[in-house]
Amino acid sequence: MLKFPPRALILFLCPPTLCHMRKTIALVAEELLKRAVIGLPDDVEIALANAYSNETKEVAKEQLKIILENIGVARKNQTALCQDTGTISFFVRGKNLTSEIRDGIFDGVLAATKNIPLRPNSVNPLTRKNIGNHPFIHLEFSDNDYLEISVIPKGAGCENMSALFMLRPSDGLEGVRKAILTHVAQKAKNACPPIVLGIGIGGTPEQAMLSAKENHLKKLTSKNPDPILAELEARLLTEINELGVGTMGLGGLRTALSVKILSHPCHTASLPVAVNIECWADRRLTARIFKDGKIEYF
Ligand code: SF4
Repeated sequence: MLKFPPRALILFLCPPTLCHMRKTIALVAEELLKRAVIGLPDDVEIALANAYSNETKEVAKEQLKIILENIGVARKNQTALCQDTGTISFFVRGKNLTSEIRDGIFDGVLAATKNIPLRPNSVNPLTRKNIGNHPFIHLEFSDNDYLEISVIPKGAGCENMSALFMLRPSDGLEGVRKAILTHVAQKAKNACPPIVLGIGIGGTPEQAMLSAKENHLKKLTSKNPDPILAELEARLLTEINELGVGTMGLGGLRTALSVKILSHPCHTASLPVAVNIECWADRRLTARIFKDGKIEYF
């Protein structure tokens, strides 16, 4: 099946060191957003198609059929697959993290808002005055000889179901599992399920929240290298699907497509647990910008 726009494509621009870095980053940020809001990653689409094939409850199957048709229409018409093009988070990894990258991302978001177009979703939190789309940029130092930029445009329906629990260390693994399951049982129906669940365990409270969201950069099929976390992911996925919330909260077999966990060391007296829920429109895309001007999207 030929997909538009192709999600894995190599482009060549003149080398960023020779061109204006800000302009290159702006083009990449706009392209990332265009591809991300129009087409879902293959693994997400396959997971939704499998959910449709296996679903036995008629109303849930019908909803999944509509979701899959919606994905096809968005791709054919080159339009955003959901009207909520979300709050935009960028994750940037590289050696030389300069203000030109930040400025380029802001330029790219401005252009994407106008050209794709994206719904202007950002407002002053108190006056509610609209300011367009304000991106959030998270930086990570890396030794790679390329610059990597990922984007997650995330809708408010699922983002509003986020939570942070400051558990007691004595709550342990069982306390973590119960806190997540109780929260998802209450909130999943409001997050346009089937959901993808991102969990951050440990670190500081703000690191746990960031880790929870960063999980959404992983492929649904990726394996957790930590056997304890891998087991917790598998158990939570089974238990969440046994809740029977189902597609769009209408019941059925699939409440969640995947559970992903990231953990960091934390204070001996703390146990932060953060939950970040993605809806079925689990949008993400990454670009790698190489020194010779080659750009890969995947
Ligand atoms: S939660 Fe997701 S699918 Fe639902 S309206 Fe928001 S972006 Fe769209």
